[in-house]
Amino acid sequence: AYGPAPEGHAEALAWIGKHGGRFGHWIDGKFTKPGTTFATKNPATGAELAQITQGTADDIDRAVTAARKVQAKWAALGGPGRARVLYALARLVQKHARLFAVLETIDNGKPIRESRDIDVPLVARHFYYHAGLAQLLDSELPGHKALGVCGQVIPWNFPLLMLAWKVAPALAAGNTVVLKPAEYTPLTALLFAEISREAGLPKGVLNIVTGDGETGATLVAHPGVDKVAFTGSTSVGRRIREATAGSGKALTLELGGKSPYIVFDDADLDSAVEGLVDAIWFNQGQVCCAGSRLLVQESVADRFHEKLKRRMDGLRIGDPLDKCIDVGAVVDPVQLATITQMVDSNTAGETYRANTPVPQGCFYPPTLITGLGTADRLMQEEIFGPVLVSMTFRTPSEAVELANNTRYGLAATVWTENVNLALDMAPKLKAGVVWVNATNLFDAAAGFGGIRESGFGREGGWEGLLAYLKAPLLTKPVKTTPA
Ligand code: NAD
Repeated sequence: AYGPAPEGHAEALAWIGKHGGRFGHWIDGKFTKPGTTFATKNPATGAELAQITQGTADDIDRAVTAARKVQAKWAALGGPGRARVLYALARLVQKHARLFAVLETIDNGKPIRESRDIDVPLVARHFYYHAGLAQLLDSELPGHKALGVCGQVIPWNFPLLMLAWKVAPALAAGNTVVLKPAEYTPLTALLFAEISREAGLPKGVLNIVTGDGETGATLVAHPGVDKVAFTGSTSVGRRIREATAGSGKALTLELGGKSPYIVFDDADLDSAVEGLVDAIWFNQGQVCCAGSRLLVQESVADRFHEKLKRRMDGLRIGDPLDKCIDVGAVVDPVQLATITQMVDSNTAGETYRANTPVPQGCFYPPTLITGLGTADRLMQEEIFGPVLVSMTFRTPSEAVELANNTRYGLAATVWTENVNLALDMAPKLKAGVVWVNATNLFDAAAGFGGIRESGFGREGGWEGLLAYLKAPLLTKPVKTTPA
């Protein structure tokens, strides 16, 4: 039923084969011998892709030592010197774009269209942008110094892109890195490490240690780590904050969300429906800033829900390697069970599942739940799957109140043809980013991050770079009384 395998598929399998289907860590510029391993699987087929090494305290220690050894030298290379390597990394990501895209899709389950047209291009853009910042660093931020060794822990939903968000600014600023990818999706990080040698990245500057949450916790707690950067769930973020408290380590946390998607009655409803497809069904809804809470103005709610259901029925779920697929596989059976359990345990509201064939296995249909109360669990908790909850409002102030009725604060979207209304709404919404008549727009130059239980710190732009730098002491006295 599917078209031919996309370009890069044979190459991806060959790359895994070249390593005998077993991977060690990437430490000090080379792969270590595999240790105790676990399988990483293709969620769309259940097939094992490779055996991955579970990182131990010794592995973390060796990686941190390697990163420490070269840090001063890497920083001393200066902004332009580091920029040369970052430009080379960006170009190599582009050169191997198909291989990266296929590897990401088979490891994570996301549609090839997304990994090919969104994830990988954004990764390249991130390295180009930070190469540019590195060149400007010495003149724009004189006296700023790298923090040292960064311990970075990332999730599985955008494996390579989250690596880029962490690694590019850290390296641009003159830090060295030990990164732990998520246990479900380690492959693109290992490929990236391998190509970093081709880019001329000195050994030890970037180290990848694979493993589960225990490996992550060991990295975070290592005394040789100066800065911890984490993207993942709010519960793990809280544990990391506790574990680093009093250690003097710098910390940034990018956590979960339950972002509101607000549709006013004057909005272009068809465009708002298309936006919603992107907001909640992109990457099977496994997006931290997913517009997972629809707030639609009462006067158009029925019409909007009807349009939405028709569009849901048209979404194609299936083999993520098929270029025509809209919704791929959920990352892992454990995640699928969580989504299923959350939706099934909900007795309030009305559940609509897309009327479209759903393959056997790790797939979940696009789902819409209406008629919930504000305090219902599904209204408050992140489902992290292709499930949208919906509620109606009457006035703009009620929309603001409902939108902010969450412990999170990552993103918000507003659809209206009334610019004044949009400009009035945006600052009232408690979120790190507000999109107007658009959604899920990302750029390396725009700082991204949350407030409240969505975390703190920004990634991207100058703010993101500052999170990897020590500012110099102020040389001019600060005025304490108004002039
Ligand atoms: P998770 O918190 O379970 O795992 C994230 C990473 O942390 C993994 O690499 C995991 O191995 C590691 N980890 C687990 N326990 C740890 C511990 N005690 N100490 C250190 N590391 C530990 O999250 P997930 O399920 O992989 O990802 C989904 C979550 O990530 C969602 O909540 C989502 O909203 C969030 N997320 C946020 C952003 C953002 O930018 N704000 C981006 C993507 C995902």
